[in-house]
Amino acid sequence: MRLTQLVHDRLKAHLRPGDFAIDATAGNGHDSRLLAQSVGAIGKLYAIDVQAAAIDATRERLHKLGCLNQAELQQGDHATLLEGLVEESPRTARAIVFNLGYLPGSDKTVQTQVGNTVAALDASARLLAPNGLLFVTAYRGHSGGAREADAVALWMRAKESEGWQLECHDPGSTQDSLPPVLWIIAPPPPRL
Ligand code: SAH
Repeated sequence: MRLTQLVHDRLKAHLRPGDFAIDATAGNGHDSRLLAQSVGAIGKLYAIDVQAAAIDATRERLHKLGCLNQAELQQGDHATLLEGLVEESPRTARAIVFNLGYLPGSDKTVQTQVGNTVAALDASARLLAPNGLLFVTAYRGHSGGAREADAVALWMRAKESEGWQLECHDPGSTQDSLPPVLWIIAPPPPRL
């Protein structure tokens, strides 16, 4: 199964109407669409992208599907915007989704960067509700992609050692291909 499909299946099973969800890399809006539909008219999606073209594409997609009302779209850097959001609404997000790399079919020079990605993940950890899930898909094939994936892997392992529940879907690399890798992580279960 493709990782994007796996992410969507898990989000559909997890999200409920009324939930708050975040798309940290809106891109063409495929994840935002699923998040907005899953949280419904009484829920809220907060979607971020650093590129105007991505925000426009996401707005258009949500508008066509009639789910723009429950969405707030913000153009900017996800580390900065998520850090701001932590102040306002800590521990509220039921799902946060990162799809790293560059926007397919557009300017490949605008891609997520290790430093911002790790800062945005730190903010996400503080935004997640106790029953929330964080999804991160990293692409290792482009320049800088493998280094970014390594940094995310380290971040995930550090959280796991603090008691967070980690799942890693890594099809493994071969000599000819470096497939994407997906992590799904949840805050530590409450102590009884
Ligand atoms: N999930 C998208 C694909 C995302 S591609 C989809 O389903 O279509 C990665 C996106 O991250 C690109 O659109 C790029 O503009 C955005 N991006 C890169 N650096 C960013 C940053 N620092 N903050 C927010 N978005 C960023």
